[in-house]
Amino acid sequence: MDAEPDAIFIGAGHNSLACACHLATRGWKVVIYEQNAEPGGAVKTGEYTLPGFRHDWAAMNLSLFAGSSFYSIHAEELIQHGLGFAPTESPFASVFPDGRWLGVSNDAALTTARVRGFSVTDAETWAELTADFPNRAKTILNVLEAPMNLIAITSLCWKTWRKVGTAGALGLAQFLMMSPRAWLDKTFESDHVKATLAAWGMHLDFAPDIAGGAVFPYLEGMAGQAFGMMLGRGGAATMTNAMVKMIEARGGTIHCNATVAEIEHVEGRAIGITLADGTVVRASKAVIANVAPSALVRLTGDTGDKRHTQAMQKFQHAPGTMMIHLAMDALPDWIAPELKCFAYVHMAPSMDQMARTYAQAKAGLLPDEPVIICGQPTVVDPSRAPKGKHVLWLQVRMAPGQIKGDAKGEIIATDWAEASEPFANRALDILERYAPGTRAKILGQHIVTPIMLETDNPNLVGGDQVCGSHHLHQHFMNRPAHGYADGTTPIKNLYHTGAAVWPGGGTGAGPGTLLAKKLAGN
Ligand SMILES: Cc1cc2nc3c(=O)[nH]c(=O)nc-3n(C[C@H](O)[C@H](O)[C@H](O)COP(=O)(O)OP(=O)(O)OC[C@H]3O[C@@H](n4cnc5c(N)ncnc54)[C@H](O)[C@@H]3O)c2cc1C
Repeated sequence: MDAEPDAIFIGAGHNSLACACHLATRGWKVVIYEQNAEPGGAVKTGEYTLPGFRHDWAAMNLSLFAGSSFYSIHAEELIQHGLGFAPTESPFASVFPDGRWLGVSNDAALTTARVRGFSVTDAETWAELTADFPNRAKTILNVLEAPMNLIAITSLCWKTWRKVGTAGALGLAQFLMMSPRAWLDKTFESDHVKATLAAWGMHLDFAPDIAGGAVFPYLEGMAGQAFGMMLGRGGAATMTNAMVKMIEARGGTIHCNATVAEIEHVEGRAIGITLADGTVVRASKAVIANVAPSALVRLTGDTGDKRHTQAMQKFQHAPGTMMIHLAMDALPDWIAPELKCFAYVHMAPSMDQMARTYAQAKAGLLPDEPVIICGQPTVVDPSRAPKGKHVLWLQVRMAPGQIKGDAKGEIIATDWAEASEPFANRALDILERYAPGTRAKILGQHIVTPIMLETDNPNLVGGDQVCGSHHLHQHFMNRPAHGYADGTTPIKNLYHTGAAVWPGGGTGAGPGTLLAKKLAGN
């Protein structure tokens, strides 16, 4: 009989995989149970339209992973196990109804010149932001990567104050609380420049007027220019596949089609799990749950901590996403041909429109003008499609998990099975507006509704792609609830990880890495 593992993981999302990799390198025996037929959670790749066309099911941009502390520690071993990146120097652009466009490239002079096309003053500001970025980014990333416990926060405040002084520390605190619109209005004058950056807030649930959202447009804009964008070679799954191989090479095991139905705990201490088929598995040191907060308390039952239980049950999710995967005969013919070289093209015309789209989705309405993020991965990595062909990755933001109506008054259906087709057509109409003739180039199409995202991965509640709103009341020391942002729970030896835990969503493996370091002691 196999020896009892040190740690059992619930769910094979990339945070579990990262945590398991790190613990395995520190001598821990790890076992992962995943309800899906394959590991990876929101990071996986498959032929969802036609044979030979490889699509990233959800995450496509792996820049956060490439820049993560997890990757910096384990890069060599991951590369040995097959991890490969496909970098691009042309990360993102926005196209506008007036036919103009603005793209950020990994060439500061080129990007600044493009900004100058909209405003000379904004180009000067852009150049100042660029010069200041290396220093400022370090200060901000120190905050975004810090463990959220009292000692770490105190030490961080002290170090920040020593580095930037009182005015600098207060300025940083103010910036971290600003909405995208507040910061963009203070910083730039061109509406095109503002909208280009504000679109990044919509990757999370930071619509232009949401406090705490300014940092994402700033970091994505500046980091896109400084580093470009990293895609996975052959698909985003290169990342999760390499982590799986690393875990197995170090004696760990991953079981798929294995739903965890219960977390066993006795006298306030977790001892193991029960699978849906009744199998009981024990762990000697830790049970680590990469699940949505509401699922955590369903798995534990009564923990004896009412405050924690209520916080998990009331944890708030962001609006959902719809994905459209397209197999293409050719790339779209954008109204500006230069757009063909960018990994992402945002169709997010103005901050006002983005604010309206978000408000509509929050109210349960299908937005009249959803934000479209058109990913063109085959521009960067042609191996994902047969020679000369392409795939497109369309993210439709935002979409309500439960439909109450249609902001445009055209779609009658309120269940996703019926609404998906007409809503996808609305998204494709928008794409067609900016790239006429795109529909005629589509060879195959696969629509993934918010409900399908959740069915595939129960952590994506209502199609919420980041497992929980990142608004200030649920971020920093409040993610997923204050007192528990370091992955602890009221039950000893039971830990919580994944996008619902600080530092939150994205492919940066932050929650898993911070937890692994805490458990291993380094
Ligand atoms: C459509 C979409 C696009 C995105 N695009 C990007 C992007 O381009 N770049 C980026 O950085 N981020 C992106 N994100 C966000 C990012 O992918 C996620 O935040 C991140 O991958 C979440 O990782 P995780 O470790 O929290 O777990 P998840 O990926 O959520 O995985 C959790 C796993 O746990 C399993 N599980 C849950 N409950 C159980 C149970 N009871 N028993 C067994 N298994 C269970 C699930 O099946 C799942 O496999 C995107 C997300 C989505 C959905």
